[in-house]
Amino acid sequence: MSTKHYLNRRAEFKDKKKEEQYFQEEISRSLGFIRQLLLAVGILYLLFVIPDYLLINNPLTFGVLIGNRVLFFVFILIIYYRLSQLIRENKYARWITAYEVLFAVSFLLIYYLYESPSLTIQSWGAIIIMLGVYLVPNRWINIAGVSFLLFLGFFAVSFMVLPNIEFRELSASLFYLLLILIFSLISSWRTNCDKRTQYIYMKRIKFYSDRDALTGLYNRFRFEQELLEVICQAVRYQTPFSLIFYDIDDFKRINDRNGHLMGDNVLVKQAQLVARNIRDCDIYARWGGEEFIIILTNTELNGALEITRRIKELIAEYPFGVGSITCSFGVTYYRGGEDKDAILYRVDRLLYEAKRGGKNKIVSG
Ligand code: GH3
Ligand code: MG
Ligand code: MG
Repeated sequence: MSTKHYLNRRAEFKDKKKEEQYFQEEISRSLGFIRQLLLAVGILYLLFVIPDYLLINNPLTFGVLIGNRVLFFVFILIIYYRLSQLIRENKYARWITAYEVLFAVSFLLIYYLYESPSLTIQSWGAIIIMLGVYLVPNRWINIAGVSFLLFLGFFAVSFMVLPNIEFRELSASLFYLLLILIFSLISSWRTNCDKRTQYIYMKRIKFYSDRDALTGLYNRFRFEQELLEVICQAVRYQTPFSLIFYDIDDFKRINDRNGHLMGDNVLVKQAQLVARNIRDCDIYARWGGEEFIIILTNTELNGALEITRRIKELIAEYPFGVGSITCSFGVTYYRGGEDKDAILYRVDRLLYEAKRGGKNKIVSG
């Protein structure tokens, strides 16, 4: 699958909603890492007062630098403590970008204030900050913007503070910095695209791991997980629930007469029909073949029987295009203390009785 279909040139999903969802999930997953990184950077930046103290003789300049470092540290702490909230409110990218711009500006200011700065040392500083910007998860376009701003700023300040520097030395430094910028941009762009592609595949795998490919209903694996959960709730909160297990009558004959494709079509249509006529809180799954199962949450046996009669009628009256279709139903309710297998065994027996009793029937117990 080509990424061009769903990604734009900024390595983001074209679909804004999907991008937002992806970004939130991705950032939330990296929360611990981002927190540690922020704190480490904050402390490191504060510790740079030591070289400031050793290298700067002018007390005013030294004061400005300390003020800058402390302010910056406070800003980091604010983001550190508000991180979860910023992610929830969709403000993360903006705040992190503002923080990085401020960091870059503050680095350039210190470069500007240093007495006789060394181009080599400051170039390394710029490189490290640039790589740091790539380390913090953010939108690719924001990362690109910040690193480009840092590059241009570094270029401008170097011209201002090093008027006597040899052109060859300055241009070599800037050229290398530019190469690092370009390589990092390409690498980060590719990573962003790849991560989004993997995200799409993961979603698809997750969807089909618990869905039936033909009808889109939950598959048996997911159904059994849900049933365990419903039993847990029923035990904990003393709430009732019921189970409907049904099987389409003489489905083999429908296939034989109309072909398997038409048979598939019937399975899909009837699944959609039933899904439309039960509540969102009910759990509907394809047990296998032409057998379906429904958990009716918070429903006693009488309520379940009423719903079953309605479903039976709906299916019998629906124009599937293969003649009239009937189903046999087993209906039961949860009896406190029993496990998943016990209720499943009972409802299966009830369905069997409905079949043995002549089909097109509801048997409850
Ligand atoms: P009964 O009334 O006793 O349930 O008879 P039946 O013919 O419905 O049941 P049987 O178990 O003999 O046959 C079930 C049929 O369902 C056979 C199988 O080919 C068909 N079937 C199972 N899964 C699918 C499917 O995904 N698509 C189609 N078209 N047919 C399927
Ligand atoms: Mg059948
Ligand atoms: Mg069957």
